[in-house]
Amino acid sequence: GSVFAHLVQAPEDPILGVTVAYNKDPSPIKLNLGVGAYRTEEGKPLVLNVVRKAEQQLINDRSRIKEYLPIVGLVEFNKLSAKLILGADSPAIRENRVTTVECLSGTGSLRVGGEFLAKHYHQKTIYITQPTWGNHPKIFTLAGLSVKTYRYYDPSTRGLNFQGLLEDLGAAPPGSIVLLHACAHNPTGVDPTIQQWEQIRQLMRSKGLMPFFDSAYQGFASGSLDTDAKPIRMFVADGGECLVAQSYAKNMGLYGERVGALSIVCKSADVAGRVESQLKLVIRPMYSSPPIHGASIVAVILRDRNLFNEWTLELKAMADRIISMRKQLFEALRARGTPGDWSHIIKQIGMFTFTGLNPAQVSFMTKEYHIYMTSDGRISMAGLSSKTVPHLADSIHAAVTK
Ligand code: PMP
Repeated sequence: GSVFAHLVQAPEDPILGVTVAYNKDPSPIKLNLGVGAYRTEEGKPLVLNVVRKAEQQLINDRSRIKEYLPIVGLVEFNKLSAKLILGADSPAIRENRVTTVECLSGTGSLRVGGEFLAKHYHQKTIYITQPTWGNHPKIFTLAGLSVKTYRYYDPSTRGLNFQGLLEDLGAAPPGSIVLLHACAHNPTGVDPTIQQWEQIRQLMRSKGLMPFFDSAYQGFASGSLDTDAKPIRMFVADGGECLVAQSYAKNMGLYGERVGALSIVCKSADVAGRVESQLKLVIRPMYSSPPIHGASIVAVILRDRNLFNEWTLELKAMADRIISMRKQLFEALRARGTPGDWSHIIKQIGMFTFTGLNPAQVSFMTKEYHIYMTSDGRISMAGLSSKTVPHLADSIHAAVTK
């Protein structure tokens, strides 16, 4: 018999499993609102035009080789990524106290940052929002940190539980790590206001809590790269230290290229240099060095003013389409007289709407309407189109009036 015969069948990933179930459904009206990937009005995946251009440029350049990148990845990509998230005029960059390493998209950046903290930071507890992206607790537990939650979402208002957040962070042991969603909180779509961010910053700095930003949606929330980076820049502007995990999956549509970056903002250039040397010791035994293609695409786009401008327009168009889907769904429910207050659909921001539908309603919608989403009632607005909004609105109406 096999030495693995004792293994039990593991459950599907709660998010990716939605797509597995969707793929098995033969219904022509099926709709996948589970996965966090952008779709066009026609329901098709989108490769950005600037990405096509950058790839063409890379192919035409016969001097390009495919040897290993250094452990830290593509150095130009790292510099440009730090500028993109912290701002071109960031004093921290000018003072050389930021170290940036290319990682395997947002997930890899979180994992490398988590392992670095578990090895070298004095506090091993990380606080994550309640609720959060399902992968967060697993990433940080396996990185060697102990995971606790802080209150974030208030189901009764479908908004921020700001009081609870302040209480929980206020009660966290000094020095604890706090994971912050830079914008477009996943899964709730609820972000603090700038004034609330300022209060969070003051509280965290006064208690020496370590900010670890997860920036998976820069530009996707508001349509502006700078606006979406504002909370991070507020924390960097006070001179304190922080970590930032960046992903280019959504904002450049580079999902499968697995391209992202981890930046650690330090107090001095000297410390940043030593931090980088230790990051290399985390990365080398994990995957040796990161892939070259995705980072090269990003570097081509970020270094060229024309391509960069073209990218911001394409990004804005994606964000705008999502915002327009919010309006259309809200209007469709209003037109049907669906009971309840659905204004959170237009108030929430980013790729997801946290509908407030319960697991029973979700499974009803899947069974009767072939609409797929995670059981917490999170729907991807990016997977909707003008054509599919009525079908979704019908199903929500039926689910809540049944
Ligand atoms: N953080 C959050 C909050 C996310 O929603 C995602 C993508 N679903 C990620 C990180 C990382 O995604 P990726 O590894 O594809 O960049």
